[in-house]
Amino acid sequence: KLDFAGKFAQKLGMNVRDEIVHAVDNVDLTVRKGEVVGLVGESGCGKSTLGRMVAGIMPASGGEILWHGKNLTALSGREAKQAKLQTQMIFQDPYASLNPRMRVADIVGEAPLVHGLTKRGEWDSYVDGQMRRAGLDPSFKRRYPHQFSGGQRQRIGIARALAVQPEFIVCDEAVAALDVSIQAQILNLFMDLRRDLDLTYLFISHDLGVVEHLSDRVVIMYLGRVVEEAPAEEIFARANHPYTQALLSEVPRIEARKKSFAGIKGEIPSPLNPPPGCHFHPRCPHAFERCRIERPALKEVAPGHKSACHLNDKAA
Ligand code: SF4
Repeated sequence: KLDFAGKFAQKLGMNVRDEIVHAVDNVDLTVRKGEVVGLVGESGCGKSTLGRMVAGIMPASGGEILWHGKNLTALSGREAKQAKLQTQMIFQDPYASLNPRMRVADIVGEAPLVHGLTKRGEWDSYVDGQMRRAGLDPSFKRRYPHQFSGGQRQRIGIARALAVQPEFIVCDEAVAALDVSIQAQILNLFMDLRRDLDLTYLFISHDLGVVEHLSDRVVIMYLGRVVEEAPAEEIFARANHPYTQALLSEVPRIEARKKSFAGIKGEIPSPLNPPPGCHFHPRCPHAFERCRIERPALKEVAPGHKSACHLNDKAA
C-alpha cells in the first residue's frame, strides 16, 4: 500500500496509485535451531521483506510468524521483548545502520546495558569482549563509525548484534557491499560464531555463490514466492527449478553449469503486476501453455527437496 511518501506525492497531484503489492505471497519457511538457511533471489523478489518480518521489524499483513512455537505477533510483555532481543538483524550497509554520532563502545554496549545483560561496573569489559568476538580491537572503542573501513563497520554491526546474546541472526545481504577478500573474512566470522555460540542464521543474498559454503538448506524466492527449497548440496548438485538453474549459471566459477544454462534473460517483472500462472514464465526457456495459466505448487521432487515447476508433472 502507499507509504507516507506516496500519500504526500498523491496530495501534490502526482499520479501515484494506492495498490497492494504481495511482496511475500503464501511463503512457508522453517528455520530449525542451529541451522543456516540461505534465502536467495534477485532484488525485488521479497527476500528482504520476509527477513524483516521474521526479525520483527516489519509487521506482516497476514499469516503467522512462530518463534519457539509461539505466534510472534501475539506475544506481549517480557516474552515479546525476549523474542525481539534474541532475533537480531545485520544489514547490507553497516554505515547506514550505525549512528554516526555514537562511539563504537556505545553502539555495541547501549542495548545490553538497557536490557540488563551487563552492569555499569562490568560494562567496559563486556563491550571489549563483544568487540574481540567480532574481530575488532577494543582499543578503538572510543572512535566513531566513520573512522573504520567497510569491513570493520560490518564487524561493529556484528558486535552490536552479538552484544544482546541472540539465538537467531537474520543477515540481509550482509557481505554484498564488501570487497571479495573482506567478504570471505566476514563469512568465516559468521561460521566461527555459529560454532562458538550455537547461532542460527537466515542468510539472505542475491548471490548463490555467497551462500554455498554457509548454508545447510537453501530456499529460492521469485516474485514473492518460494520456487525451490532443498539441502544446500542438493541445490548445487541437482537444482530442479529453471530459475535456480539460471541463478547457478551466474555463479562465475562454476564453468560446467554455465554450459547448461545461459543466465537469466530480461528483468524481474513489477510485483505490482506479476505475470499470471508461473511468475517466471516470461523469462523461462522451458515455458509452455500451462505455465501461463496455472500457478505451479511447491511439491517434493526428492526427499527434502521441493520445487514449484510444471515440468516435474510433465516428466512424471
Ligand atoms: Fe518454467 Fe513453466 Fe516451470 Fe515456470 S512452471 S519454471 S515457466 S517450466
